[in-house]
Amino acid sequence: MKKENSRRDFLKKSAMLTIAGAGMHLAGNTVLGSAIFPGSEGDAFTLPPLPYAHDALEPYIDSQTMQIHHGKHHKAYVDNLNKAVKENKLENIKLEDLMKNISKYPTAVRNNGGGHYNHSMFWKLMTPSGGGEPGGAVSHAINTAFGSFSAMQEKFNAAATSRFGSGWAWLVMQNGKLVIGSTPNQDNPLMDISELKGQPILALDVWEHAYYLKYQNKRIDYVNAFWNLVNWGEVNRLMG
Ligand code: MN
Repeated sequence: MKKENSRRDFLKKSAMLTIAGAGMHLAGNTVLGSAIFPGSEGDAFTLPPLPYAHDALEPYIDSQTMQIHHGKHHKAYVDNLNKAVKENKLENIKLEDLMKNISKYPTAVRNNGGGHYNHSMFWKLMTPSGGGEPGGAVSHAINTAFGSFSAMQEKFNAAATSRFGSGWAWLVMQNGKLVIGSTPNQDNPLMDISELKGQPILALDVWEHAYYLKYQNKRIDYVNAFWNLVNWGEVNRLMG
């Protein structure tokens, strides 16, 4: 019911944008976690278009980083996922279902499937008009779990900066309560092999490719900049 509603809303919004000639390539950029996950239609996964221009997140994330990150890194995950899926005859399995049973599949599916899932979520969790503090259900859940918004931020920043090497920091709904943690490489909390489990509602890519051009070794500066971009509307939507 809910999925159908958001699908309808999406179609309506999409049609309006098309009529308005907004030029934003929103087709296929739909509801994460549902049957219409970008790329789950047809026989191959596809790179979802960015929901904003490459330079839209300036000055917090630079245009060149966005071009390489989306157009090269994310694209490579999609291409290599399609290759792995084909080689292992895993076509027609939804991305979410691959994630949930990832222990059964080869490493290439884990790395590239995780890469595709995580980045598809990440782009939508940022917006040029983002930042500030959330309202709605997320605000309540954050206060319940962490005491305050700033206490949550501190914990999230610690997870993001203490992840050794490449990985992701997450805010996750776990048995009705929010928790914070991180995963290595392209793992995510949906994966059965993950120590951190649950429904992710906020994600931050802390691979060097996500920030090195602008911030070099100063990961914390990138993490702090990220808070100016968070799309709390999307976070609230993911909470369901
Ligand atoms: Mn990345």
